[in-house]
Amino acid sequence: MKKLFVIATGSAGKIRDFAHILGTDHYEFKTLKDIGFDEEIVEDGKSFAENAIIKSSVTARWLAKRGMEATVLADDSGLEVFALNGEPGIYSARYSGMHGADLDNNNLLMKNLEGIEDRKARYFCALSYQTVTKHDATSGVTATENIVGEIVGDFIISEPKIFEGECRGEINHAPIGDMGFGYDPLFVPDGETRTFAQMELEEKKAISHRGNAIRALKMALGK
Ligand code: IMP
Repeated sequence: MKKLFVIATGSAGKIRDFAHILGTDHYEFKTLKDIGFDEEIVEDGKSFAENAIIKSSVTARWLAKRGMEATVLADDSGLEVFALNGEPGIYSARYSGMHGADLDNNNLLMKNLEGIEDRKARYFCALSYQTVTKHDATSGVTATENIVGEIVGDFIISEPKIFEGECRGEINHAPIGDMGFGYDPLFVPDGETRTFAQMELEEKKAISHRGNAIRALKMALGK
């Protein structure tokens, strides 16, 4: 039987990325919506990793309370522009104020970079990986990752493991392309002349921050 693998996101697009790289032979991937999770998660961490941990641990506790064994993965990502001291960083989604206002965010970024020559930047992604396992006192706990963890009822939630990926590039002077999302029309990855928004999804995934973080996870899982 396939194991439940919950991606702590509402985005079906992200599920496709994770399923594609990790493979669907052993896991059945579900979003928060798929499992009926409807609580609001307050992402008040000070780094991508902290925010990813908040999302995975809230989700893991929710599953444990409902008696569900699962692997949980949460991601947090964003854009860091070096000349702007890492802005927009963890505030990438709401740089201009409103959550998810891509056009406004891109306009603000271009404005803040006016007159600045150094336009180097990176996309960054942190993944937090935890497992929710039923504690069986008769067989003992064998998995190393479950030796340290939080107990919720009959379940053990493993300590979060963090996997990170980056993709370096430059911020273009004007937006180009209509694929992708967020800052993609402004981001030209190193070694490329096109923006992320001019690349097919497969091409972007091969070099993207999220792709690199998922590949690091995949290697650690030995898959
Ligand atoms: P989240 O981690 O999916 O919530 O992403 C946070 C924000 O970072 C998004 O709303 C985008 O503004 C930005 N971002 C993260 N990854 C990407 C990407 O691959 N392309 C474009 N923007 C991204």
